[in-house]
This record gives sequence, C-alpha cells and structure tokens, in this order.
Amino acid sequence: MFDLSLKLDERSQQGLRRSRRIVESPQGINLICDGKAVVNFCSNDYLGLANHPDVINAFKSASDKYGVGSGSAHLICGHSRAHHALEEELAAFTGRDRALLFSTGYMANMGAISALVGRGDTVLEDRLNHASLLDGGLLSGARFKRYAHGDVEHLQNLLGNSEANKNSVDIPHPSPLPKGEGISRRLIVTDGVFSMDGDIAPVQALSAVAKRHDAWLMVDDAHGLGVLGDNGVGILEELKLSQDDVQVLVGTLGKAFGTFGAFVAGSEELIETLIQRARPYVYTTALPPVIAEATRTSLKLIQSEGWRREKLRQLTSRFRTGAEQLGLPLMASTSPIQPILIGESEQAVAVSNALFNQGFLVSAIRPPTVPVNAARLRVTFSAMHEELQIDQLLDALAKAIA
Ligand SMILES: *Cc1c(COP(=O)(O)O)cnc(C)c1O
Repeated sequence: MFDLSLKLDERSQQGLRRSRRIVESPQGINLICDGKAVVNFCSNDYLGLANHPDVINAFKSASDKYGVGSGSAHLICGHSRAHHALEEELAAFTGRDRALLFSTGYMANMGAISALVGRGDTVLEDRLNHASLLDGGLLSGARFKRYAHGDVEHLQNLLGNSEANKNSVDIPHPSPLPKGEGISRRLIVTDGVFSMDGDIAPVQALSAVAKRHDAWLMVDDAHGLGVLGDNGVGILEELKLSQDDVQVLVGTLGKAFGTFGAFVAGSEELIETLIQRARPYVYTTALPPVIAEATRTSLKLIQSEGWRREKLRQLTSRFRTGAEQLGLPLMASTSPIQPILIGESEQAVAVSNALFNQGFLVSAIRPPTVPVNAARLRVTFSAMHEELQIDQLLDALAKAIA
C-alpha cells in the first residue's frame, strides 16, 4: 500500500503541507490572488518585465510570424531563427563565446553538470545551492561533496583531500573531454545570489581556489542576472570575472527577464559539449520561438533601462533601514531578496497568512527548501514598487510578527 494520505496528514501537522493560491491577473505588483487584491512581495519578476507592453507586443508579433509551438527539439527541427538570435545576443551580453538556450533553469543545471562530470569525477557544491544544482550533482553520478555555505576554506579542505594538484598553481584548465578518458575532473558549483537567503557567493575566492586546484567553476546567477552590475549582466559583471574565471555561467529567463527558459554561457567547446551530451537539452522540445522573441525585447530593456536596477537598490535599502529600526530579523542580504527569519514553519505560515489578510502577498519558505528551524518569509522587490508600499509592508510586518 502507498500510505499517501498518512504522509500528507503528517505534513499538515508539521506545518509543511504546501498549497497553491490562484492568481487571476497578470504578474505584477498588484495581483488578484484567491479572489483578493494584494500587493505582491514574492515574485522573481524583479524588473517588472513579465507584463511589460513592449515584451507583450514582441510576443504577439512573433506569434504571427512563428506560430505557437516549436515542433520538436533543437537538434531535430525546433531551433528557430528567433532562438539563434537570442543565443547570439545573450553571448554578447554576458561576454562569453557562446550561449545555449534550455527550456528551464532546472534543466540547464541538470544538463550542464551531468554533461561535464560523471563517475570518477567530483562535484563540490555549496550546501545552500538551489535544488536543481544539487539534483544535477546527484544525477551526474560524480562523487558529491557539499561545503558549508560560502565557506571557501572548507571547500579548499575538500579539494585538498582528493588526490591531485594539492597546492599547485598555474596549471592549465582541462578542456572538456568526453567523460571517462583519463583525467578526473572537479567541478565547483554555486548559486551567484542565493535564492532563499539573498546573499552573494564569494565568487572571486571560489574562482581562485578552482584555478589553484585545476577545477572548473559553475555559477548559477538566476537572481543576479538583470539585477546586479551596471549593465545588468549580474554578479560576474559586478566582480569583473571573465570566462576564464568562471567557465560555466547559468542564467534563467523566468526571473528578471520576465519570460521563461534559461541559458548556459561559456566557451565554444563548452557549448558544443552541451549540445552533444546534455540530455535535458537533447531530449526535450525547444522553447516556443515566441518566448525567444519576447526575451530579446526583455534583454533590450534590461540593457537600456538602468533605472530599474537603481530603483531596486533604493527600495531594498529603504526596506532594510526600516526593518532594522523595527528590530525585524533581517538576514545578511544586499539583493532584492530580503528574507525575514522566523524559525518555526507553523509560525512562518501564520505570519504569511496574517499579511495576506492585510493585503500583502509574502510567501513562507519552509523545510526542505530551507534548513529545519530556519523557516522564513521571503520578501522580494520589484522595480515597480513604490516607496510608500515598502513602508506599508513594514508596518504590516511589525504588526504580524509582534
Ligand atoms: C529559479 C531557479 C532555477 C530554476 O530556473 P527555472 O527556469 O525556474 O527552472 C535555477 N537556479 C536558481 C538559483 C533559481 O533560483
């Protein structure tokens, strides 16, 4: 017997049962959600592009040109001019040789990790990495090691314990060879901006360690892309890190880009390797080309409208200042992801519900998405929020938590 209802009841009792609210409006800061008008503070649509008129128009005219479905996988007949143009533009935007579109970020991570490492190799991941990165590491069959969150020294120890190149410097990087041909590879994998904590990975230090140990570094900048850096190129622009420093860059299109899908950017050989070997690339239907065309317009807006990033910074700092004055349990985040640590799952849900009743949508994040006893409210901002709404949220939070 599959005792499903027993397990479901158990989840309910622990405050861990998840459910969905139904949204009846376009994405944006004002939502109609479960029939109620609320101000949205939990979307990843950081720049307010998901419902931008230019993006919508690009989508509409592309549907006249390309129809809706892509018809097949990229390697069969689904790779349209729209996909190809977007890949070229994303490569130029990120300063990488090439970029490759994936249907989702989850698939990009599963595909990239398992194409680069396998049995006999090692993958080293930050403990708080996004589930898709952890799952990709497990799927790959490589030896799987996790280092403490942001702890470069712990990572060094883990690398030092494995066989080769302990303290060596100036070793050339391995070029991606098919798996199992002699060298044992090591891939270090991290979120750029941590999705549930909002803090930023020590990418420069990780890159230095990777070089010293002849490993590659993969950064998933799902929450930095469009948001960080003067031009919105993300954490790698902010830290001035090139393709030689971070060999594998993953970006998602469903967040600041406001559309859907994802990409991996890097060297010519990396992208060719993924086209040959990344199963979640090869064996899935290409994104609808209309999505690619809409995303090309998002990319133009990301590049030309720096005020959206500036506004996000202002809103974030206003929130942090106000929250500090109120003594709210902020976390060490400088990004537009500003979690409020609650602890108990039931309490996080209760606060989230109280906020909903006051007209604010803020999601409670519970284990296993975050560690046990680290349930939190995940507050996020959009360039479309007004300062007054930040102040109103702070008032509501103070009431709901007191
Ligand atoms: C959202 C997210 C993903 C998954 O991207 P999707 O396109 O939604 O599948 C991957 N990594 C991180 C860090 C994310 O936040």
